[in-house]
Amino acid sequence: MAEHAGIEELIDDLVTANHILYNEGVVDGFGHVSVRHPTRPDLFLLSRSIAPGKVKAGDIMVFDLDGNPVDESSTSGRKPYLERFIHSEVYRARPDVQSVVHNHSPAVIPFGVTNAKLRPISHMSGFLAGGVPNFEIRDAGGPATDMLIRTPQLGVAFARTLGGAAFALMRGHGAVAVGDSIRQVVYRAVYAEQNARLQAEALRLIAATGGGEINFLNDAEAAGADAANYANMDRPWELWKMRVAGQR
Ligand code: MN
Repeated sequence: MAEHAGIEELIDDLVTANHILYNEGVVDGFGHVSVRHPTRPDLFLLSRSIAPGKVKAGDIMVFDLDGNPVDESSTSGRKPYLERFIHSEVYRARPDVQSVVHNHSPAVIPFGVTNAKLRPISHMSGFLAGGVPNFEIRDAGGPATDMLIRTPQLGVAFARTLGGAAFALMRGHGAVAVGDSIRQVVYRAVYAEQNARLQAEALRLIAATGGGEINFLNDAEAAGADAANYANMDRPWELWKMRVAGQR
């Protein structure tokens, strides 16, 4: 990979993203983040199967869009994540997507198993406007799966549910954020979790104060706020990066 200028920098950002997502409570021992290869759109980079907080540059593997590791010299003996097909099939279905996060962060889970719809409650999460799809694995995998996207077929089904959205829930499992860069996808994963926490808090306040409804951002506000934040994507990244400095 050394012939591609910038690949080392991209791997460095991918390692940092793993550490940030752990530090910000988006991933724990499980979950993963990937990035599309900068010059080969039919490939993507993803760590071997270890806890994101422990990922180092030497753990990064290269996969094709069937989810097969392609760099045998660097992958021999390495175990890939079972759910790498989330990444491979999203990259196949969405040419605009350059980076993918899959996580099980606690606050989003309730929104996948109830009628409560995850919606943008503050200007930091305008990317949730337009509806958050919820993947029902029983539709594609039947009633007796282990809930994991462990085949390309389930990955295809998930990508179909995701459609053109920036974020999707997975019923009883977690969520997936997609973006046009590592920075954007980390931002989305962090603020989707925060939005879920705040939305649940607002629902508790409503219950405690005798009723009413959450006044969500409308579509125009969400789009405006999202564009404003997009211009400042580097700011939270640099802060989150500072917090994980020295973890490699
Ligand atoms: Mn998972």
